[in-house]
Amino acid sequence: MTRPLAFSAPGRFWRGNLHTHSTRSDGVLDPEEVCRRYRAEGYDFLALTDHFIGSYGYPIVDTVPFRTKGFTTILGAELHSGAMKNGEIWHILAVGLPADFAPSDSPTFQPKPGQETGPEIAARAVAAGAFVAIAHPQWSGLTLEDARSISAAHAVEIYNHGCATGCDRPDGAAIADLLLTEGRRLTLIATDDAHFSEPDHFGGWVMVKAEENTPEALLAALKAGAFYSSQGPELRDVYLDGDHVVVECSAAVSVVAMGHGTGAKAVHGHSMTHARVPLARLNKSPWVRVAVIDAAGRRAWSNPIWCD
Ligand SMILES: [Zn+2]
Ligand SMILES: [Zn+2]
Repeated sequence: MTRPLAFSAPGRFWRGNLHTHSTRSDGVLDPEEVCRRYRAEGYDFLALTDHFIGSYGYPIVDTVPFRTKGFTTILGAELHSGAMKNGEIWHILAVGLPADFAPSDSPTFQPKPGQETGPEIAARAVAAGAFVAIAHPQWSGLTLEDARSISAAHAVEIYNHGCATGCDRPDGAAIADLLLTEGRRLTLIATDDAHFSEPDHFGGWVMVKAEENTPEALLAALKAGAFYSSQGPELRDVYLDGDHVVVECSAAVSVVAMGHGTGAKAVHGHSMTHARVPLARLNKSPWVRVAVIDAAGRRAWSNPIWCD
């Protein structure tokens, strides 16, 4: 029986948003108010990740003063340096950066000759201790070659709520599945990318399993893959049991198991809280991941489970 860390590690789930902007870059609300709103919405933690470019003063916002009993913050930024295949600048999410992370040579959102490449700044962030994710692949117009090049990344944004509301390009699943099929052991995060300029908040989050709600414990759990992502549904247990994947969840209409290529199988119902999904149709995929869909169309996503 294989049970991923989110459902086998000790501790409890903590709800957090890993991708958020404030007035320290192009967001509408100041950092304190952003933290207050997430706290009021029941989040346990928040990473404020303003755009790390020169025109905003390379912000790594000190959110430590906005921590309260029961609510913590992780320092971070959205990094921009180097051009993607389409000529536009990279967007790379870095959660858990040191406050003195050295600025890149990124004066604006325009790529600049000679600056660090996307892969280089991602690797530098990982070396500095950050959990790094490839942001909004669909909105960025990322190619597979682009995505492949960020070899230091821990994760891909499978869902970006701001991109869902702002441009109907929320998705990272297609590129994530291709990378998984190449053997990349990536995890999948849902985020808000909230700017509070439109209904771009409280729509996608991570549920991180850790023994305590501290930045250190949360970061370690994120890097270890001890979490799942959601727009609403809860995942209570997910594990492989022989030739099935077993899912315990909040009421769902569909529970889907996915693997490489066309490999997938769905089980449908009305308010399922338990499903056993047979894996025969996954064509011996070396990885399996699960999506749970509720009656409102909201999803939760497990991280990939590796079958070896
Ligand atoms: Zn971005
Ligand atoms: Zn962003």
